[in-house]
Amino acid sequence: MADALEICFLGTAGYFPSPTRHTCSVLIPRHGILLDAGSGIHRLTRHKLPGHLQVFLSHAHLDHICGLPALLGLASRCGLDRITVNAIEPVLCAVREHLFAESLFPVAPPFEWRKLEHHVQYEVPGGGRIRGFPLEHPGGSTGFRIDWPEGSMAYVTDTTARVDAPYVTELTDVNLLLHECNFNAAHAEWARQTGHSWTSQVGQVAARANAGKLVVFHVDPLSEEDPPVRLDEIREHFPRVKLAEDAMVVSL
Ligand SMILES: [Zn+2]
Ligand SMILES: [Zn+2]
Repeated sequence: MADALEICFLGTAGYFPSPTRHTCSVLIPRHGILLDAGSGIHRLTRHKLPGHLQVFLSHAHLDHICGLPALLGLASRCGLDRITVNAIEPVLCAVREHLFAESLFPVAPPFEWRKLEHHVQYEVPGGGRIRGFPLEHPGGSTGFRIDWPEGSMAYVTDTTARVDAPYVTELTDVNLLLHECNFNAAHAEWARQTGHSWTSQVGQVAARANAGKLVVFHVDPLSEEDPPVRLDEIREHFPRVKLAEDAMVVSL
C-alpha cells in the first residue's frame, strides 16, 4: 500500500510575510500540485517533484501570486520541465497583464495557462479530480476540492466563513479541510469588512461540512498574540483542528 498522501505548507500567512510565516502556498509533492503561489514558494526546492507542476490559483491578490515570478528560476532547480497555471479567466488575465507586465517583471515566463470554470471537474494525477467553486471575497476567490480514490481535501482561502454560505455544500464529508482563519472572534467585524474569516465561524463551517479534520492557515501577520489563532474558539464547534505552521506536513 502507498504511503499516506502528504500535504505541505510552504507558507501560511495572509497579506504579507512575517519573520516566521511566508504567504500562502500549499504543495502536494507526489502529484505536483501547488495551491496558490505566495512567498513561501522558495520552499519548493525541499521537495521531490514530478516534472510537471500544476499551479491552481484561488485569486490574484498579491499574497497568493507573488511567488509566480520565482518559478522561472526555481523550475530547473526543482527538475520541472512543464508548469501549468490554472485559474478562472479573470485571474489568469490579471496575472498575465499585471504581474507579468514588462514594467513589473522582465521576462515572459514559459508557463502554460489553463482556464478553469467553476463547478467543472478536471483530472489531476493520482486518479483524482479537482473542482473549483466561488467564494465571497472582494474581487472574488475560488475554493478547491480534490477527490482521490484514497481520500479528499479542500482548500478554502480568502472568504468570510458562514455556515449558510453556498460553498459549504461543496465541502460535505471532506477528509481534510484547509480553511483560512485570519482573525479571532474579537475581530469579527474587521474580518467581515476585509472579506476574511474568524475562528468560531470556521469551526461551525467544518462541523456543518462534517469534515474529518481541519487545519487553519492564512494567519494575520500583524497579530501580536501567540499563537495568533485562538484554537479554543474553533474547538467549541469543531475539536479536530490544528494551526498550520510554515513547513508543516499533514497527511490526508
Ligand atoms: Zn490572502
Ligand atoms: Zn484576497
